[in-house]
Order: sequence, then structure tokens, then C-alpha cells
Amino acid sequence: MFNLKTLVRPNILALKPYSSARDEFKGDEGVFLDANENPFGTLNRYPNSDQKKLKQKLFDYNGIEAKNTFIGNGSDEIIDLIHRIFCNPGQDKALTFTPTFGMYQVAADINNIELITLPLNDDFQINRNDLKPHFKDANLKVIFICSPNNPTGNCFNASDIQFILKNFNGIVIIDEAYADFSDEQSWQNSFETYPNLIVIKTFSKAWALAAARIGIAYASDSIIKLLNTIKMPYNISKLNESAAIDALDNRKDFEANKQIILEEKKQLIQELKSLNIIKKIYPSDANFLLVEVDNANELYQQLVDQKVITRNRNSLVENAIRITVGKPEENKQLIKALTYLTGF
Ligand SMILES: *Cc1c(COP(=O)(O)O)cnc(C)c1O
Repeated sequence: MFNLKTLVRPNILALKPYSSARDEFKGDEGVFLDANENPFGTLNRYPNSDQKKLKQKLFDYNGIEAKNTFIGNGSDEIIDLIHRIFCNPGQDKALTFTPTFGMYQVAADINNIELITLPLNDDFQINRNDLKPHFKDANLKVIFICSPNNPTGNCFNASDIQFILKNFNGIVIIDEAYADFSDEQSWQNSFETYPNLIVIKTFSKAWALAAARIGIAYASDSIIKLLNTIKMPYNISKLNESAAIDALDNRKDFEANKQIILEEKKQLIQELKSLNIIKKIYPSDANFLLVEVDNANELYQQLVDQKVITRNRNSLVENAIRITVGKPEENKQLIKALTYLTGF
């Protein structure tokens, strides 16, 4: 049986969050002499600690209520907070499926948590038989699922994800950083069915706001309360919140740019296919392509020499390079560089 209270670290369960003066006084107007701010300037006041306006915009966009929404300083912050809520350092464990996003390992290491890494199968899918024995491990508290997965680009089978949600009594995190580029159904509303689910999204990829550092978590109100309890009071700057609100207000730009990226991706696949330097293009639900070449280390360097920077993923998938879909002229430059290396 899933029981949230028994999963939370005792010190976090007992924690009394920092309370600011602005939390106590709810009005907008008055003479504010409470927070030792400078009375001059435009960014002189502390921001709201609950990002009410951004959460309202998100509700207008996707219908998920503020009580089920948490805003983090990038999804990286959310990944760290999840470790800190559920995993006792030096004692508890997290689990993920490799190859995958490197931040799960970094966050586990920072928090002194053992991360169990189960290899994906040849189709980069989850192997249930490898996973099942771990459900019995009382110290396993969280499972990180990255879908669409970075760096492989594919979504995991929905039936495997559902199997984990139903059979694992700990917390299941689905990182949907790239879901905006995919036709697969998002899990963002599924916390109503699965009280152990946290879905993470970000403004860093399809929303084109990597510099603004805005990540989102959708989960039950009990889990959202825990995230709000342990976050730093002013984790989101007013500038960053405004940038996300502007992006949501300009949805046409978001849609148009996304369409260009998806079109470019299709074209890039065609062009890469025609180059014999490219041995394989893995299926992708994201804004990047994982490709297999003869010698990834060498090709990566040869591309750098032509000022085209890709991501060498040879250490994760043998002789694989991850290529982000860029602007049309950038993709042309990549193809030009590859064509040159092919020696046509
Ligand atoms: C890029 C990426 C993120 C985004 O992280 P932010 O901190 O929100 O910028 C999250 N998860 C995965 C798998 C990513 O590739």
C-alpha cells in the first residue's frame, strides 16, 4: 500500500517552513516597512513566494490547479528537492534506467543516496523482470523515468510506466522535459489516479526559456505541499516568473517555433540518411536525434574543428552522437560539415 507519510524523511515531516512578513499580510496595498527592502528601484521588492500569477496562467493553459502545481528554479531544483524530501542520506536509494539524463546521478550523489541504474533493453525500453525484485527493497524510495528519454530520444511504453505506477509503493517521477515535442499522451494529469506520481516539465526546451530557469512539477496536493515546505522562500525571481508568463501569453510563437523544429527534424532525418557517415538514426520523440557513427570521438572532434558542436554520447551509447535540431541555417551548416567529412 502507498502511504505518503511513511515515505517522507522524519525531519522533513516535522519541518516548519520559513514564514516571511508577506506571507502573513495578504493585501497588495500599504506602506511596506517590513522586509528591510530598499524603497527605491523597480526590482526592490521581494517576489511573491507562491508564483500565484504564473500558476493561474498554467491553469488557463492546461487546467491543472495551483494546488497541484509547483514551480522550481529549473527542473534541476525539483529533482534535488525530491531526493531531500524522500531519501534519508546514506540509507535510502533511488532508481533509474540507463542511459538517461545525468542530473539524477548528480542529485543522488549530492544527497549521498545510492542510485540503482538498470540498463534499458536493445530498443531502449524498460525491462520489467530486472525491475520487479527492487519493488521489495524497503529503502528504495523513488524511481526516475525520463520519457521521452534523454539521450535516446524515445518514449517508454505506457504499459511499462503504468506497471511501475501500480506496483511500486514509493514515488515515481516522470520527467517530461521533451513531451511538448511528442505525440504521446502526457502523464501530467495522472496524479489523480496515481497518488505516488510526480510529473516534471520545464520551460527550458519547447518554451525556449532555458536561461530563465523555470521547471514545473504536477502532483497530488500532499506532495506539492511538501515541495513548498522545503523550497527556499524566493526560489523564483520576479524576472524569471515574468518571462514564463510572457511565453504563455505568446502561445502562437511557441506553436510556430515548435512546428519549425519538428519540420526541420524531419528534413534532418532525410539528409542524415543519405550520408554514409551516419550508420543509424534512432527514433526520436524529442527535439534531438541520437545517431550512430563509426567513430563518435573522432567525428565529434572533426565537427568541433568546423565549429559545429554536438554532444558526444559515446560513453553512454557506443559511437553515438546526440544532435539538437537547430534553426534551418544551423542544420544546413551541420549537413555541410558532415558532407565535407564524408568526402563527397
Ligand atoms: C533539459 C532537461 C531538463 C531541463 O532541466 P531544467 O533544469 O528545467 O533546465 C530536465 N530533464 C531532462 C531529461 C532534460 O534533458
